[in-house]
Amino acid sequence: TPTVVFDNVTFGYEPGRTILDRLSFEVPAGSTTAIVGPSGAGKSTIGRLLFRFYDPTQGRVLVGGEDIARVRQDSLRAAIGIVPQDSVLFNESLAYNIAYGAEGADEAVVEQAARDAALMPLIERLPDGFGTMVGERGLKLSGGEKQRVAIARTLVKNPPILLLDEATSALDTRTEQEILGTLKRLEEGRTTIAIAHRLSTIADADNILVLDHGRLAENGTHAALLAKG
Ligand code: ADP
Ligand code: ADP
Repeated sequence: TPTVVFDNVTFGYEPGRTILDRLSFEVPAGSTTAIVGPSGAGKSTIGRLLFRFYDPTQGRVLVGGEDIARVRQDSLRAAIGIVPQDSVLFNESLAYNIAYGAEGADEAVVEQAARDAALMPLIERLPDGFGTMVGERGLKLSGGEKQRVAIARTLVKNPPILLLDEATSALDTRTEQEILGTLKRLEEGRTTIAIAHRLSTIADADNILVLDHGRLAENGTHAALLAKG
């Protein structure tokens, strides 16, 4: 598993408007870092730079010690699984939706993946098993069910880096806790960045970054941040 490092990163979408301002932090291999902060602070932008949708104006992003500007785009993207807040699912079977994650795999592999024991905790709660059409007429998945499929679709690739961009923020607290608990069991030493806005989401992160106007306002464990008030 690779370490993720932001080294003195400055970035703006347009000239003259800085979104990330000399931002430095490290996510050690296999650990979980949560990023919190007010809306507009630049949290999602961090994810977009990591995925190289954009490049920093200054500074570097390193994955496994390598500047991602020098890593092949396809291998970088293969190494990172992203789960956004509102995942879009195809109006197709569960297996098909998971196949979207396991790109290039043949049907048998995908069917197998959809029955993968490791993913079961995520998908066994879906209505009516694997033959069920996710978007079948009359069958609507709840937000929580959709996010379970989205997470399964991402994890089936077994990405060494996982980026959760408010992946459970839109759900009620109980559903969120259930999904987070499952994710924790499926963690398997992945380097995880979890963008969040509820404190409950991040209580057991190894480290928490508080971002404000593109700068680190705080950096520490949950206990350390609480102690500071
Ligand atoms: P957060 O995730 O913390 O809410 P974002 O990283 O999404 O914040 O956005 C940070 C700032 O960048 C916001 O002011 C937002 O309006 C701006 N921004 C985001 N995406 C774009 C874009 N594609 N073009 C211009 N500005 C953008
Ligand atoms: P953003 O939230 O940055 O605007 P998109 O809306 O393009 O990103 O996509 C969010 C996620 O949803 C992507 O990671 C992708 O895996 C997934 N996705 C996008 N379009 C589809 C689709 N038609 N079917 C299934 N998943 C999709």
